[in-house]
Amino acid sequence: MSENFFNNAKIMFVATFTILLSLLAVVSSTSIDNQNLVYAANKTLNVITSVSPITNIVKNIAGDKINLTGLVPEGVNSHTFEPVPSDIIKLSNADLVIINGLFLEDNMEKVVNESLKNKPDIQLLKLADGTINSTGWIFDFSFPKEQDHPNPHLWLNPVNAMKFANLTKDKLIEMDPNNTDYYTENDEKYIALLKQLDEGIKTAAQSVPPENRKLLTYHDSWAYFAPRYNMTVIGAVQPSDFSEPSPLDIAKLIDQIKAEKVPAIFASEVFSNRITDQIAKEAGVDIVQTLRDDALPGDLTSPNHTYVGMMLDNMEHMVIPLGGNTSSLTNINPANTYTP
Ligand SMILES: [Zn+2]
Repeated sequence: MSENFFNNAKIMFVATFTILLSLLAVVSSTSIDNQNLVYAANKTLNVITSVSPITNIVKNIAGDKINLTGLVPEGVNSHTFEPVPSDIIKLSNADLVIINGLFLEDNMEKVVNESLKNKPDIQLLKLADGTINSTGWIFDFSFPKEQDHPNPHLWLNPVNAMKFANLTKDKLIEMDPNNTDYYTENDEKYIALLKQLDEGIKTAAQSVPPENRKLLTYHDSWAYFAPRYNMTVIGAVQPSDFSEPSPLDIAKLIDQIKAEKVPAIFASEVFSNRITDQIAKEAGVDIVQTLRDDALPGDLTSPNHTYVGMMLDNMEHMVIPLGGNTSSLTNINPANTYTP
């Protein structure tokens, strides 16, 4: 029954999608020819992003000079996110869509590719593709080589976040050259903050005793962070299809935790913590902390509701339970740096 329901929902989704696209084709065909002229006449760019950390990085470069919409709601599994009809309309009205790429936003990408048939001037910027090539891809526990989808979580390494910021600046300058100075200044200020963050994390990670520099997480999102700071991801609980692990997988993880003597294991802000709690209990680990990769801390108005705020929050929850300290991070201001 649930399968039927799922199929019906899928058919409804596809039907709605097709009708919307036909309508949009009629609306947009009248304006395509004028698009380049519109850019020249100072039109505010409509920019759509995917996950909140990327939205916040883009915000710090673009400030208030663009209309910015992040599509993936916080607390939602970004790996399986499907745009709803109102998102499809937003995507087809976009001038620029900025995503991570590496298969993270497959469903969003499909909608953009469909929209491109009617509005060929929508630009798609895939930040991960501009940051590393295939030799830099990491395959691991939940993203095994056999499935050919590399671990997509580049942004959890602040050095990659710097590249995301620079790629965004270059694209905005290309599409909106009148605001070149504004985007350049914002980028310089933001890169300075990210360098401070990177240095602070380096010091904090070094304060963790070497034998404790091991990450065992529910969601497998630390692949690009760990090598930057001499840490090792020793395992991830979540299977590659984002289902729940089997009892055999759980038993193996418990044995591994006991053998490696890790002092803490890490749950995810988006996925259920029930299994992580069970593993910790059976392995005799006292501390389960929650790490974030998609959802920013605080509410929308909090100064730490930012990418930098998320990383500082993560370091509190990661470094301290592993036996280190975060004093190198206390002077970092997580607030947005763009000029209003
Ligand atoms: Zn993720």
